[in-house]
Amino acid sequence: MNAKNYQLLPSCGKEAEGLDIILACDGASSVGQVGHEVAVFLTKKREQARMCCITAVGANSKVHIGIAQKARKLIVINGCALKCAGKIVRDKGIEPDYEMTISEEGVDKIPTLDFDDEAVEKIALKIANEVLSQK
Ligand code: SF4
Repeated sequence: MNAKNYQLLPSCGKEAEGLDIILACDGASSVGQVGHEVAVFLTKKREQARMCCITAVGANSKVHIGIAQKARKLIVINGCALKCAGKIVRDKGIEPDYEMTISEEGVDKIPTLDFDDEAVEKIALKIANEVLSQK
């Protein structure tokens, strides 16, 4: 597939200072997948929001830790009460500007990768209203 068929995203490695960076745990359960889709939704709909690689932060990638440190705002999305995404960034000495846990937003943690699009949109709009920069 030609790259022109893709929606090209802002480069978080080069533009973190101007972006709201979203790190989601992407856990293998209902709540992890909702969190992932929320990050995708916001990245696609908001020009200044960009999901980035939390696994790379956990793996000590200097580039990715730098992105989290430099972000205009850092938004962390956990699937469940274990709050793995928040623990990963704090373990690197970084305090998120905003943290959400999907299981506290009316979504049950169940062993499925299926999710409800309505829940994704509702939670994404909540984050957009509460924390994302307007521009
Ligand atoms: S926060 Fe919960 S859903 Fe996310 S990776 Fe950790 S255990 Fe899985």
